Amino acid sequence: MEKKGILIVISGFSGAGKGTLVKELLRRHREQYSLSVSMTTRAPREGEREGVEYFFTDREHFEKEIEQDGLIEYALYCGNYYGTPRTYVEEQLAAGKNVILEIEIQGALKIKKKFPECLLIFVTPPNVKELKRRLEGRGTESEEAIANRLARAAEESEGVEAYDYLVVNDNLEQSAEDVHSLVAAARWAPVRREKFVKKIREELHSYAKGVQE
Ligand code: 5GP
Repeated sequence: MEKKGILIVISGFSGAGKGTLVKELLRRHREQYSLSVSMTTRAPREGEREGVEYFFTDREHFEKEIEQDGLIEYALYCGNYYGTPRTYVEEQLAAGKNVILEIEIQGALKIKKKFPECLLIFVTPPNVKELKRRLEGRGTESEEAIANRLARAAEESEGVEAYDYLVVNDNLEQSAEDVHSLVAAARWAPVRREKFVKKIREELHSYAKGVQE
């Protein structure tokens, strides 16, 4: 297997439980994955720590990062900037780790353009009632913010076909293992086995040439 890790994009409606799913995946298979920490201009929620859930910053600094090409993608989501710092992702991929980006759909599409060999996974709850229950149960957002996020989810649902796989998150352990299996299977795709494909192709061509002569 080639050493370079897989860039995995995990998106899903706000409240789909993707954060919890990713945590469960890391708990089970820590050594194979690295989680990218995004930068955001959103205010920290209670309990969120600088450099763990996000790097919290202001608009001015965020825009400077954009200018200096420090982010591999960014998006505006419900009035705030969110973006993926470049250095960590590049280093971890080169070290053979599968790097997880937990980002929304605009960012996911930008990543797909820049890194066509990435793996796009969309996480959804089984139904909208459950989504609303999870958003309300979190207790961190106002009623208005929840309504905003549900409206955004409706828009995002239009883009689901751009993803490689859809995981319905109704059982945390199962969903974490499902994602892990998808990543394991993705390693076998020809686009992620460039070196092997190149080698066997060259050998076959030179053999065929030898036979013809
Ligand atoms: P939240 O405010 O709930 O933490 O995140 C809001 C949305 O922004 C979620 O869908 C989350 O996945 C997404 N998000 C988090 N970090 C990034 C990022 O770096 N880039 C993009 N495009 N979206 C992000």
